[in-house]
Amino acid sequence: MEQDEKYMKEAIKQAKKAWKIGEVPIGCVIVYQDKIIARGYNRRKIDKNTLSHAELNAIRKASKVLGDWRLEECTMYITLEPCQMCAGAIVQARIPKVVIACMNPKAGCAGSILNLLQVPQFNHQVEATYGVLEEECSKMLKDFFKELRQKAKEEKCKHSES
Ligand SMILES: [Zn+2]
Repeated sequence: MEQDEKYMKEAIKQAKKAWKIGEVPIGCVIVYQDKIIARGYNRRKIDKNTLSHAELNAIRKASKVLGDWRLEECTMYITLEPCQMCAGAIVQARIPKVVIACMNPKAGCAGSILNLLQVPQFNHQVEATYGVLEEECSKMLKDFFKELRQKAKEEKCKHSES
């Protein structure tokens, strides 16, 4: 558990990098033999690429480090429940275990809308732990969207003044 929190904190650091550049703060790290081998954060806007989710960015790096598309002995830590694309990639990469901070009721595919991590018909299922540093991560997202709405409001005011 302590271990999980330690690595989730690292994922939160990644999420904050996303926030700094105006992206929805979602972060991810991949751990292999008790070491972080890859980090990723959401860069969808800046990369202008729907594939640039935190999880996919981290998977790409981890595969480079290990020299293998299979990430069979890795654990992924993510600040938010993965979407259908990333949950699919996690299964494809044969990642055995993910640790998720908070759920995403509107888009999550690790239990909210679907649970792609544990479809018995697929050849690989992923063990999932939920709720590690959940409050911290959901507050981070709420604060981000609050700030976004605030900024949008200020923009509107500026426009109506000029
Ligand atoms: Zn995703």
